[in-house]
Amino acid sequence: MYNLKVVIIGAGIGGLTTGIAMQQAGYQVEIYDRATELRPAGAGISLWSNGVKVLNRLGLGEKLAAIGGEMNAMEYRSHTDERLSYVDLKPLFERVGQRPYPVSRTDLQTMLLEAFGPEKVHLGMCCVAAEQDQHSATAIFENGDRKTADLVVGADGIHSAVRAHVLNHRVERRYANYVNWNGLVKADPALCRNDLWVIYVGDNKRASMMPVGGDRFYYFFGAPMEAGTQVAPSHRQGELEKIFQGWPEPVQQLIQTLDPEDTNRLEIGDLDPLERLVRGRIALLGDSAHATTPTLGQGGCQAIEDAEVLTRYLVTTNLSVEDALKRYEAIRKERTSKLVLKARKRTSTIYGYHPEVTQQWYEDLKQESPEAVINALAKVILAGPMG
Ligand SMILES: Cc1cc2nc3c(=O)[nH]c(=O)nc-3n(C[C@H](O)[C@H](O)[C@H](O)COP(=O)(O)OP(=O)(O)OC[C@H]3O[C@@H](n4cnc5c(N)ncnc54)[C@H](O)[C@@H]3O)c2cc1C
Repeated sequence: MYNLKVVIIGAGIGGLTTGIAMQQAGYQVEIYDRATELRPAGAGISLWSNGVKVLNRLGLGEKLAAIGGEMNAMEYRSHTDERLSYVDLKPLFERVGQRPYPVSRTDLQTMLLEAFGPEKVHLGMCCVAAEQDQHSATAIFENGDRKTADLVVGADGIHSAVRAHVLNHRVERRYANYVNWNGLVKADPALCRNDLWVIYVGDNKRASMMPVGGDRFYYFFGAPMEAGTQVAPSHRQGELEKIFQGWPEPVQQLIQTLDPEDTNRLEIGDLDPLERLVRGRIALLGDSAHATTPTLGQGGCQAIEDAEVLTRYLVTTNLSVEDALKRYEAIRKERTSKLVLKARKRTSTIYGYHPEVTQQWYEDLKQESPEAVINALAKVILAGPMG
């Protein structure tokens, strides 16, 4: 289809990537976000090769490589500092044709925003509802504004407002019973080798570091916790000291090095797979469609894949917008539902929902062959829209 006008709600990874792809297709795109200042939630993100391939196609490969960390291997260690597994990732790159890039979220957002055009991102615009008729779709904002286009894309995250219109009912986030702390620190060989992703596991918790561009490590911790706990930034270092007391030296050093004021603390949740992702001329995309726990590192990559597939159907078919959206849904619902459920299962294993299963997993890590790990990663990557 030609000359489409598109309104996107949400300027996160999903909304911005969709904006770039649709703009490159010659469509007229405007993005609206409720934030008054765009600040990514979280410090880093690992873009696996399936996400990277889409960004390559959008002409962003070189820029992404410049902000990405060089992650050549991954290692699991126990909380008593025993090496459980070590996987050289180069065979994975050869299998799938592209390395992954861990990046700082601020760098990624800046890159995407510049590629889309910041002047077409309208801030302070909180979408409260959506409606449509046979010829157009409209986003309605808290301030009374209405923006009408050929289609509306709801890329407005896990608490999406557009989703209520698509589903005809509200869906709430499901708490995954653990808290994640994350941030960035200066790379230091005393913490981790600078081309390694290290993950310490034990006692149903984990602590991890991976390299991102700018000679930094993205770090994260995870530990089971009841819902509703809050800890002020100034107390987060002390909280981590207590939870990870007695863990190996690099973990202790990481806790002493990090800036507690710049340490994010998030209760992690996901959504049950939705019964539909589109209604007529309105499509859900990214976390609004399939928010997942981050234990496969695929949430953002799936938002990027969504952007590619949705744009591709609009460009390559010409029956109607509704028809293209249906085709998008048919492809994306299955892939993303499977990944949400797979990540959920992995979350339960990592965070001790059944402690005996978690204990067994620690044992299994020692036995798992690097080939099996590469195969599992390659399977997810190669099932993406770019193969
Ligand atoms: C701790 C953690 C680690 C993760 N690690 C990885 C990883 O390594 N790899 C990976 O691929 N993924 C990872 N993810 C998942 C990834 O962060 C998300 O899947 C991704 O950010 C989703 O992008 P999005 O654009 O769909 O939504 P969001 O990033 O949530 O963006 C939504 C945007 O919509 C705006 N908005 C919300 N409501 C409204 C409204 N009513 N009106 C207007 N605007 C609105 C918001 O302000 C926001 O800008 C991780 C997630 C977490 C929590």
